[in-house]
Amino acid sequence: MPNRKKAFVHRPELDTGGYPEDCPFDSSRAGRTLETLKSMALIESDDRMQVAPDQLTRASVERFHTPDYVDALQRAGLGELTPDEALHFGLGTPDCPIFKDMFEYVALAAGASVTGARLLLQGEADIAFNPSGGFHHAQPGNAAGFCFINDIVLAALEMTDAGKRVLFLDIDVHHCDGVQDAFYNRNDVMTISLHESGRTLFPGTGFEDEIGTGEGRGYTVNVPLPVGTYDAAYERAFSEAVLPLIKAYDPDMMILEIGTDALAGDPLAHLHLTNNVHADITQAIADLHKPLLATGGGGYNAENAVRGWSLCWSVLSGEQKADHDLLMGMGGVMLENTDWVGGLRDRVLLADGGRRDAIDSEINLVIDRIRSKVFPVHGL
Ligand SMILES: [Zn+2]
Repeated sequence: MPNRKKAFVHRPELDTGGYPEDCPFDSSRAGRTLETLKSMALIESDDRMQVAPDQLTRASVERFHTPDYVDALQRAGLGELTPDEALHFGLGTPDCPIFKDMFEYVALAAGASVTGARLLLQGEADIAFNPSGGFHHAQPGNAAGFCFINDIVLAALEMTDAGKRVLFLDIDVHHCDGVQDAFYNRNDVMTISLHESGRTLFPGTGFEDEIGTGEGRGYTVNVPLPVGTYDAAYERAFSEAVLPLIKAYDPDMMILEIGTDALAGDPLAHLHLTNNVHADITQAIADLHKPLLATGGGGYNAENAVRGWSLCWSVLSGEQKADHDLLMGMGGVMLENTDWVGGLRDRVLLADGGRRDAIDSEINLVIDRIRSKVFPVHGL
């Protein structure tokens, strides 16, 4: 992709404001990713640029969220919300804490995804990346799972307003319940999520029989995965159940949520991936040559998130097609340390032999169900 224009959407305020220090959601990951990429000379060039995002206005937030919830976000940031009021809107919990000027912060973090969508629509960029985005759990009237304003929904609406058909692919370890609910009866946004099964992980949804309704039937796709899912099994689910659907749908634009909490060693989840999977999926999506908005998301081992996002940006920049061995880093998920030597990629992790057969057969069932229920809708 030598001439595709790439925009890294970020402002320093996204690093310094934000979630309290004791919250597992680390706001500094995006800025650290930017620093890593600058140190590798992967930001400034003829076809790469950094773009400052716009904060969302109240009216633009209300494209998806209810006015009383937006009131609550604004009053929470001013310290005016009572504990009872806060809980009604999902605020003041360990994962959706109240902090000073929170509306301004979350409206900027979500605004960066909408800015990215506009860059694509205006032809100013072919690929935009907002590592401070990916708030896929936020609902119209409440916060959930570290998510306050649903930037994915707002960015997708920006695209559909312009008449575009949108593919949303979510590889965060958690199911994208807020986005799925928003577009469940629509066929102009296809939502595909690979995630740890709701049987073992928040938010407890995203089973393969959730496939959309009405006109949207067959345009929601869920790939729930068992504990311990490893690279080869995940890639097989992607190539057999997901990629054919994306190609058949043939969207005008795409959104990719790259939460890194599916990587081995994440403190909040139980999959066993390395960042090579994220690199491969990012490459497969980039190879479709559609305008692409990529976002961050979860990732509660901050070092692994910074490495993973830096790797994905380098893939989007066309810098990762060389011999993998030369680019393989030490450290990361395998050694559980943060010394990066030699590159951004994790070393290959072997699957736990005892669990491998059970994982494979569970994933086979999921693939079979998607192929029988969803593929026919798309002529496959
Ligand atoms: Zn997540």
